[in-house]
Amino acid sequence: MLSTMQDIPLTVTRILEHGMRVHAKSQITTWTGAPEPDRRSFRETGERAIRLANALRDELGVDGDQRVATLMWNNAEHVEAYLAIPSMGAVLHTLNLRLPPEQLVWIANHAADRVVIVNGSLLPLLVPLLPHLPTVEHIVVSGPGDRSLLAGADTAARIHEYEELIADRPTTFDWPELDERSAAAMCYTSGTTGDPKGVVFSHRSVYLHSMQVSMSESMGLTDRDTTLVVVPQFHVNAWGIPHAAFMTGLNMLMPERFLQPAPLAEMIEREKPTHAAAIPTIWQGLLAEVLTNPRDLSSLKQVTIGGSACPPALMEAYDKLGVRLCHAWGMTETSPLGTMAHAPAGRSPEEEWSYRLTQGRFPAGVEPRIVGPGGDVLPWDDESVGELQVRGPWIAAAYFGGAGEEPLRPEDKFSEDGWLKTGDVGVISPDGFLTLTDRVKDVIKSGGEWISSIALENALMAHPEVVEAAVVAVPDPKWDERPLATVVLKEGATTDLAGLKAFLGETVAKWQLPERWSLVREVPKTNIGKFDKRAIRRQYADGELD
Ligand code: ADP
Repeated sequence: MLSTMQDIPLTVTRILEHGMRVHAKSQITTWTGAPEPDRRSFRETGERAIRLANALRDELGVDGDQRVATLMWNNAEHVEAYLAIPSMGAVLHTLNLRLPPEQLVWIANHAADRVVIVNGSLLPLLVPLLPHLPTVEHIVVSGPGDRSLLAGADTAARIHEYEELIADRPTTFDWPELDERSAAAMCYTSGTTGDPKGVVFSHRSVYLHSMQVSMSESMGLTDRDTTLVVVPQFHVNAWGIPHAAFMTGLNMLMPERFLQPAPLAEMIEREKPTHAAAIPTIWQGLLAEVLTNPRDLSSLKQVTIGGSACPPALMEAYDKLGVRLCHAWGMTETSPLGTMAHAPAGRSPEEEWSYRLTQGRFPAGVEPRIVGPGGDVLPWDDESVGELQVRGPWIAAAYFGGAGEEPLRPEDKFSEDGWLKTGDVGVISPDGFLTLTDRVKDVIKSGGEWISSIALENALMAHPEVVEAAVVAVPDPKWDERPLATVVLKEGATTDLAGLKAFLGETVAKWQLPERWSLVREVPKTNIGKFDKRAIRRQYADGELD
C-alpha cells in the first residue's frame, strides 16, 4: 500500500524560501579588498535572488529549462544566482574559470547557455570567447571590472549591468511547481581525458545532498557557525555549502578572488570562521604562510579537506595549530559528498587517528561496493582492494548528452546494473570507512603487484623538508611500470635524494621504493589545484624530468 504522507517536491525554491524567512539574519560576508568586507543578510540575499529571477524572466525572457551560466568567484551575487535560477525552473550552469578557453567554449556550447552572468574582473577571460558562443544572447556583468572591454566585443548578445537589471524588480515571484527530478544545476568535470562531461543535478538531489552536508557526521552546519568557502562555487557547487547554508542558517565567508594564502590567513584571523572547506594544496599554502607570518587560526573548529588525498603530515601540522582537518572524499558525479572521516564514538586516541587518516565513512545515502579486477564484489574487510562503485539519490546515473540528446552512459563510468564506477581504487572497512590507494589510472602496476601512489606520496610528505611530492607510474621494460617520485623541497633544505630514499625506506617495503626521482620547483597542478599526474607522465616521456 502507499503511505499516507504528503508528496511535496524537494526543490531549491523551498530551500530559498526557508532560508530567507527562518534564517533571515544569517549573513554572507564577501571579501572585497576594501577595509570592510561586504555583508548581506539571507533576507536581503533572498529578496535580491527573487528580483534576479524576475529580471531574468521579464527582461531577458528566460523560460523553461534554459541554461543560465555563471562565470564568477565565490561571492554573494553568485549565491543569489544559485537560488534564483533553479527556483524559476531554469538550470544554473557554473563555468569553471580555470579551464583553458577552448574547453570553456566547448562546454558553454554543449550546454547551449543562453545567459552568462559574469564578474567584471573576469571580462578579460570572457570577451575573447564571445565570438565563439552563438547561443549566448545576454551577458550580465556584476561587481568591479573594466566594462570598456565589452565595447568592441564581437557579439550580438545584449549587455546588462547586474545591479541595474535587478533594481526595482518585485520581491515576489510566482514560482512554478517543479518536478523534483528536473534539472536544477549542472557542472562539467574537467575533461582531463576526452571531452568534458556534464553532470546535471536535480532539485531532489540538491535538497537531499544539502541535508546530508549539514549533518553533524558530515560538515555539521548550524546558524551558530560560519564557513570560509574556499572551494569554488564552480567546483561541484562549492561542495553543496551554499544550498546547505540556506537550509541551516550557516553564515558564509566568501573569499571572492582573494585566494592567496596571505589574504586567506587575514580573513580567518579577522572574521573568525568556525568551519572551512578547501582542497589540500590550499591548506599546504596556508600552512607555509602562517608558519612564516603567524596568524590566529584558532576559530576554526572543523575544516573539510578533500578533492585529493590529505597527507597525514598536513593533518598533524594543523593539529599542532589547534585546527582539526576532516578528510572527505567525493567527485562531481557524487554532488560531491561521498564520505567524511569522523571517527566512531568511544575510540582511543590512536584508533581515532587511524580513522581520521581514511577517506571517511559512507553516509546512509551513499551505498558503496568494491569490485575486483574480475568483476567480483569484494568483502568490506579493509583488505580486499578493487574499484569503488557507488549508488544513491545524489549520485549521477548518466552524463548530459547535449540539448535534446539522450543522456550518455559510457561503459567505463556506469555499470550495467546502474552503479557509478568512480575510477578510484581502495578498500572498505567492516564499519564502512573507505581508504583509497589510488585512481585506476594512477595505480602503479609493477610486476603483477599494485603500488599505491598515494601511500608513497604520504610517506614522502611526512619528511619535514618536503613541501610536495607526487608519484606516478612510468613504463619499465622489466616490471611494466615503476614509480617515479617528483619532490619539491623546502627552501634551504639540507636533505638530498639519498636522504629521501633512506627516509622512505623506513616505512615503505623495499620493492615499492622508486628508482627514478626528480627534484622539481613545483608539482604541476590541474585547473582546480590537484596534482596533475598526466602532465608529470608527459614531462617524463618528453625527457623533461631528470
Ligand atoms: P576531477 O576528476 O577533475 O579531479 P572531481 O573534482 O570530480 O574532478 O574529482 C574527483 C576525484 O578526486 C575522485 O574520483 C578522486 O580520485 C579524487 N578525490 C577526491 N577526494 C579525495 C580524497 N579525499 N582522497 C583521494 N582522492 C580524492
